[in-house]
Amino acid sequence: MSPTPYSLPIIGQSNARFSVNKIICIGRNYADHAREMGHDPDREPPFFFFKPQSALAEPGTPFVYPWFSEDVHHELELVIALKKGGYQVSAESAKQLIGGFAVGLDMTCRDVQQQAKQHGRPWELAKGFDGSAPCSALRLGSYEDLQQMGELSLTRNGTLVQQGDWRTMVWPVADLIAEVSRFIRLEAGDLIFTGTPAGIGPVVPGDRLLANLEGLGDLLQVDVIAAKAP
Ligand code: MN
Repeated sequence: MSPTPYSLPIIGQSNARFSVNKIICIGRNYADHAREMGHDPDREPPFFFFKPQSALAEPGTPFVYPWFSEDVHHELELVIALKKGGYQVSAESAKQLIGGFAVGLDMTCRDVQQQAKQHGRPWELAKGFDGSAPCSALRLGSYEDLQQMGELSLTRNGTLVQQGDWRTMVWPVADLIAEVSRFIRLEAGDLIFTGTPAGIGPVVPGDRLLANLEGLGDLLQVDVIAAKAP
Protein backbone atom coordinates (compact mmCIF):
# COMPACT_ATOMS: atom_id res chain seq x y z
CA MET A 1 0.00 0.00 0.00
CA SER A 2 1.39 3.41 -0.87
CA PRO A 3 1.59 5.73 2.12
CA THR A 4 -1.20 8.24 2.62
CA PRO A 5 -0.52 11.74 3.96
CA TYR A 6 -2.26 10.61 7.15
CA SER A 7 -0.32 8.60 9.68
CA LEU A 8 0.20 7.94 13.37
CA PRO A 9 3.40 7.63 15.38
CA ILE A 10 4.30 4.14 16.59
CA ILE A 11 5.25 3.54 20.23
CA GLY A 12 8.96 2.78 20.51
CA GLN A 13 9.77 3.61 16.89
CA SER A 14 10.92 7.15 16.32
CA ASN A 15 11.49 6.86 12.58
CA ALA A 16 8.52 4.78 11.45
CA ARG A 17 4.89 5.77 11.23
CA PHE A 18 1.66 3.87 10.63
CA SER A 19 -0.01 4.98 7.44
CA VAL A 20 -3.73 5.55 8.01
CA ASN A 21 -6.37 4.67 5.45
CA LYS A 22 -10.06 5.00 6.34
CA ILE A 23 -11.56 5.54 9.79
CA ILE A 24 -14.51 3.36 10.76
CA CYS A 25 -16.44 4.11 13.95
CA ILE A 26 -18.74 1.71 15.74
CA GLY A 27 -21.83 3.13 17.43
CA ARG A 28 -23.63 1.76 20.49
CA ASN A 29 -21.16 -1.04 21.27
CA TYR A 30 -21.36 -0.92 25.06
CA ALA A 31 -24.67 -1.71 26.74
CA ASP A 32 -24.26 0.97 29.45
CA HIS A 33 -23.63 3.70 26.86
CA ALA A 34 -26.57 2.54 24.69
CA ARG A 35 -28.79 2.87 27.77
CA GLU A 36 -27.47 6.35 28.66
CA MET A 37 -28.44 7.43 25.12
CA GLY A 38 -31.94 5.97 25.55
CA HIS A 39 -31.55 2.80 23.51
CA ASP A 40 -32.04 -0.88 24.30
CA PRO A 41 -28.76 -2.71 23.55
CA ASP A 42 -30.59 -6.03 23.34
CA ARG A 43 -32.90 -4.81 20.59
CA GLU A 44 -30.62 -2.49 18.65
CA PRO A 45 -27.30 -3.96 17.55
CA PRO A 46 -24.20 -1.81 16.90
CA PHE A 47 -23.84 0.00 13.59
CA PHE A 48 -21.00 1.87 11.99
CA PHE A 49 -20.16 5.13 10.28
CA PHE A 50 -17.04 6.78 8.89
CA LYS A 51 -14.85 9.76 9.62
CA PRO A 52 -12.67 11.26 6.88
CA GLN A 53 -8.89 10.95 7.22
CA SER A 54 -8.81 14.71 7.84
CA ALA A 55 -10.56 14.06 11.18
CA LEU A 56 -7.43 12.37 12.49
CA ALA A 57 -5.42 14.35 15.05
CA GLU A 58 -2.22 12.84 16.29
CA PRO A 59 -1.05 13.07 19.90
CA GLY A 60 0.14 16.54 20.86
CA THR A 61 -2.49 18.25 18.73
CA PRO A 62 -4.88 20.51 20.63
CA PHE A 63 -8.59 20.02 19.99
CA VAL A 64 -10.05 23.18 18.48
CA TYR A 65 -13.64 23.61 19.66
CA PRO A 66 -15.71 23.85 16.45
CA TRP A 67 -17.45 27.21 16.02
CA PHE A 68 -20.71 25.59 14.86
CA SER A 69 -21.44 23.68 18.04
CA GLU A 70 -22.20 24.52 21.65
CA ASP A 71 -22.24 20.96 22.97
CA VAL A 72 -19.14 18.96 22.03
CA HIS A 73 -18.78 15.63 23.83
CA HIS A 74 -15.87 13.26 24.39
CA GLU A 75 -16.31 9.58 23.54
CA LEU A 76 -13.36 7.48 24.72
CA GLU A 77 -12.71 4.49 22.45
CA LEU A 78 -10.32 1.60 21.92
CA VAL A 79 -8.88 1.96 18.43
CA ILE A 80 -7.86 -1.08 16.38
CA ALA A 81 -5.40 -0.66 13.50
CA LEU A 82 -5.44 -3.14 10.64
CA LYS A 83 -2.21 -4.38 9.06
CA LYS A 84 -4.06 -6.44 6.45
CA GLY A 85 -7.32 -6.09 4.60
CA GLY A 86 -10.13 -8.49 3.93
CA TYR A 87 -13.69 -8.83 2.70
CA GLN A 88 -16.33 -10.98 4.36
CA VAL A 89 -13.87 -12.55 6.76
CA SER A 90 -14.82 -14.81 9.65
CA ALA A 91 -14.33 -13.64 13.22
CA GLU A 92 -11.44 -16.07 13.52
CA SER A 93 -9.62 -14.71 10.46
CA ALA A 94 -10.48 -11.15 11.51
CA LYS A 95 -8.03 -11.58 14.40
CA GLN A 96 -5.20 -11.94 11.89
CA LEU A 97 -5.93 -8.50 10.40
CA ILE A 98 -5.08 -6.69 13.65
CA GLY A 99 -1.73 -4.93 13.57
CA GLY A 100 -1.95 -2.67 16.58
CA PHE A 101 -4.11 -0.68 18.92
CA ALA A 102 -4.42 2.78 20.43
CA VAL A 103 -6.85 4.92 22.34
CA GLY A 104 -8.85 7.59 20.60
CA LEU A 105 -11.62 10.09 21.11
CA ASP A 106 -14.69 10.18 18.90
CA MET A 107 -15.35 13.89 19.44
CA THR A 108 -19.01 14.58 18.75
CA CYS A 109 -21.07 17.75 18.35
CA ARG A 110 -24.07 16.40 20.24
CA ASP A 111 -26.31 19.34 19.34
CA VAL A 112 -25.51 19.03 15.63
CA GLN A 113 -26.02 15.25 15.84
CA GLN A 114 -29.43 15.68 17.52
CA GLN A 115 -30.51 18.06 14.77
CA ALA A 116 -29.31 15.62 12.12
CA LYS A 117 -31.24 12.79 13.78
CA GLN A 118 -34.40 14.91 13.96
CA HIS A 119 -34.20 15.79 10.28
CA GLY A 120 -33.05 12.37 9.09
CA ARG A 121 -29.78 13.84 7.87
CA PRO A 122 -26.29 12.31 7.90
CA TRP A 123 -23.95 12.71 10.88
CA GLU A 124 -20.81 13.86 9.08
CA LEU A 125 -20.75 17.41 10.40
CA ALA A 126 -21.37 16.21 13.97
CA LYS A 127 -18.76 13.45 13.86
CA GLY A 128 -16.36 14.04 10.99
CA PHE A 129 -15.24 17.63 11.32
CA ASP A 130 -11.52 18.51 11.24
CA GLY A 131 -9.69 17.10 14.24
CA SER A 132 -12.70 15.11 15.49
CA ALA A 133 -10.64 11.93 15.89
CA PRO A 134 -7.73 12.52 18.27
CA CYS A 135 -5.70 9.31 18.48
CA SER A 136 -2.73 8.16 20.55
CA ALA A 137 0.45 6.69 19.16
CA LEU A 138 -0.06 3.13 18.00
CA ARG A 139 1.14 0.12 19.94
CA LEU A 140 2.03 -2.48 17.32
CA GLY A 141 0.66 -5.84 18.39
CA SER A 142 -1.57 -8.78 17.63
CA TYR A 143 -4.99 -9.84 18.82
CA GLU A 144 -3.22 -11.86 21.51
CA ASP A 145 -1.21 -8.80 22.64
CA LEU A 146 -4.46 -6.86 22.94
CA GLN A 147 -5.75 -9.42 25.42
CA GLN A 148 -3.01 -8.31 27.84
CA MET A 149 -4.48 -4.80 28.01
CA GLY A 150 -6.80 -3.67 30.77
CA GLU A 151 -9.54 -1.08 31.00
CA LEU A 152 -9.89 2.17 29.13
CA SER A 153 -10.23 5.33 31.16
CA LEU A 154 -10.50 9.05 30.56
CA THR A 155 -9.95 11.92 32.95
CA ARG A 156 -11.12 15.47 32.36
CA ASN A 157 -9.08 18.02 34.33
CA GLY A 158 -7.93 15.21 36.59
CA THR A 159 -11.41 13.81 37.32
CA LEU A 160 -12.29 10.34 36.07
CA VAL A 161 -15.18 10.69 33.59
CA GLN A 162 -15.16 7.50 31.51
CA GLN A 163 -14.02 4.01 32.35
CA GLY A 164 -14.80 0.84 30.50
CA ASP A 165 -13.74 -2.71 30.00
CA TRP A 166 -13.53 -3.26 26.26
CA ARG A 167 -14.14 -6.97 26.92
CA THR A 168 -17.78 -6.08 27.66
CA MET A 169 -18.45 -4.76 24.16
CA VAL A 170 -21.74 -5.88 22.61
CA TRP A 171 -19.66 -6.95 19.60
CA PRO A 172 -16.18 -8.04 20.65
CA VAL A 173 -13.26 -6.86 18.53
CA ALA A 174 -13.01 -9.88 16.21
CA ASP A 175 -16.78 -10.05 15.67
CA LEU A 176 -17.08 -6.38 14.82
CA ILE A 177 -14.23 -6.51 12.29
CA ALA A 178 -15.97 -9.49 10.68
CA GLU A 179 -19.32 -7.68 10.74
CA VAL A 180 -17.97 -4.50 9.09
CA SER A 181 -16.22 -6.66 6.48
CA ARG A 182 -19.58 -8.19 5.50
CA PHE A 183 -20.37 -4.86 3.83
CA ILE A 184 -17.09 -2.95 3.39
CA ARG A 185 -13.75 -4.11 2.04
CA LEU A 186 -11.24 -3.56 4.83
CA GLU A 187 -7.73 -2.44 3.93
CA ALA A 188 -4.34 -2.22 5.59
CA GLY A 189 -4.17 1.08 7.44
CA ASP A 190 -7.83 1.17 8.40
CA LEU A 191 -8.55 2.36 11.93
CA ILE A 192 -11.60 1.10 13.79
CA PHE A 193 -12.92 3.20 16.68
CA THR A 194 -14.76 0.49 18.56
CA GLY A 195 -17.43 2.48 20.41
CA THR A 196 -17.61 4.27 23.74
CA PRO A 197 -18.48 3.08 27.23
CA ALA A 198 -20.78 5.13 29.48
CA GLY A 199 -19.79 8.51 30.86
CA ILE A 200 -19.73 10.66 27.74
CA GLY A 201 -19.95 14.34 28.52
CA PRO A 202 -19.23 17.88 27.36
CA VAL A 203 -15.86 19.56 27.00
CA VAL A 204 -15.11 23.29 27.11
CA PRO A 205 -12.06 25.33 26.08
CA GLY A 206 -9.41 25.06 28.79
CA ASP A 207 -10.14 21.38 29.48
CA ARG A 208 -7.37 18.81 29.51
CA LEU A 209 -8.37 15.24 28.58
CA LEU A 210 -6.12 12.31 29.40
CA ALA A 211 -6.90 8.89 27.92
CA ASN A 212 -5.39 5.74 29.37
CA LEU A 213 -5.30 2.09 28.36
CA GLU A 214 -4.36 0.00 31.38
CA GLY A 215 -1.12 -1.76 30.48
CA LEU A 216 0.15 1.09 28.34
CA GLY A 217 -0.48 4.01 30.67
CA ASP A 218 -1.57 7.52 29.75
CA LEU A 219 -1.40 7.52 25.99
CA LEU A 220 -3.22 10.58 24.85
CA GLN A 221 -3.43 14.10 26.22
CA VAL A 222 -5.77 16.50 24.46
CA ASP A 223 -6.06 20.16 25.38
CA VAL A 224 -9.31 21.80 24.31
CA ILE A 225 -8.89 25.31 22.92
CA ALA A 226 -11.34 27.88 21.59
CA ALA A 227 -11.71 28.42 17.88
CA LYS A 228 -9.90 31.51 16.65
CA ALA A 229 -12.20 34.33 15.63
CA PRO A 230 -12.47 34.46 11.80
MN1 MN B 1 -18.34 6.85 19.26
